[in-house]
Amino acid sequence: MTSHDAGVRHINIPIFVPHMGCPNTCVFCDQRRISGTIAPVSAEDVKETIDKYLAASSGEDYVEIAFFGGSFTGIPRNQMTAYLETAKEYLDMGFAHGIRISTRPDYIDHEILDILKKYGVRIIELGVQSMDDDVLAISKRGHTSKDVIKAVGLIKGHGFECGIQIMPGLPGDTLKKSMGTAKKVVELAPSQARIYPAIVLKGTEMEEMYRNGSYTPLTLEEAVEWCAMMVPMFREAGIRIIRLGLHYSEFLEDSVVAGPFHPAFGELVEARVILDRIIGIIEEKGLKGLPGIEIHTWKGALSKTIGHNRANIKALKARYGYGRIRVGECDLPSGQIRVFALYGGDKHERN
Ligand code: SF4
Repeated sequence: MTSHDAGVRHINIPIFVPHMGCPNTCVFCDQRRISGTIAPVSAEDVKETIDKYLAASSGEDYVEIAFFGGSFTGIPRNQMTAYLETAKEYLDMGFAHGIRISTRPDYIDHEILDILKKYGVRIIELGVQSMDDDVLAISKRGHTSKDVIKAVGLIKGHGFECGIQIMPGLPGDTLKKSMGTAKKVVELAPSQARIYPAIVLKGTEMEEMYRNGSYTPLTLEEAVEWCAMMVPMFREAGIRIIRLGLHYSEFLEDSVVAGPFHPAFGELVEARVILDRIIGIIEEKGLKGLPGIEIHTWKGALSKTIGHNRANIKALKARYGYGRIRVGECDLPSGQIRVFALYGGDKHERN
């Protein structure tokens, strides 16, 4: 079974492994603050978590064990292998089908990759954050874009699937730099990506920078706009977007000081991607200055085509002065939109 088989439900078993002794000082990271509140994870805890999720699985699902939350390959070696040994038992028994880990680009080398291979890890996600060396330096990441290029080469060379995480809006970032990062990510051709706009969390150096005025986070509108420009670039390159924005939790909400945090961030971005596509079609096909338009979208995309609180409809009416906009789901391939002219009540086949 693979994670892409049609009709197979994908179950992700998340195991949060905080990197308590991390020697790095990334300005956005709150691990130092939370290190006193989260107990270290034992191999026994890993087993308990896996068993809990498996109990709720049908047995027909594609089950993936995902170690996230820190720099997995930077934790003490015996602890890392203890986690992997536990996970591999489930692979060997056929109860799980894949293991994924996330780590820093400079914590990847041949030796580490050989260990990960031995334990059946399939996907390695890299916390890249930016491909701009100034942004990386100001954010005190402690690695450069060259480290990313080297790590991706090693990961792919060892036959792993590679994922990349980026964080638009870090200190020193601009729209141009973020688009440069997206372009370089496309060149690196990972199979998947997560986009997390930078959020100011309690207890981080970025909070101090925000409070003393040396850092201004993106607004929600900016973050949505930047991400909506990146998403089509990645999709056109065949890079699957597996996450847009941080997962909502009460703990996270309590930790947010400032920045573009929204519980439905991904939906806002998807709606914006569709709005940009509709605008592109209107401009291309000369559908401006009409009484109205009719939009056909693919099945399941009606609400994101209309937008949160009808935001897309309002934006199109404000921009083009349409009196009437009809939206309907049709038998279109996923991601495809059609726009037709409306004169009075009738659709006119101008597109
Ligand atoms: S984000 Fe930076 S500081 Fe935080 S755990 Fe990862 S490497 Fe360490």
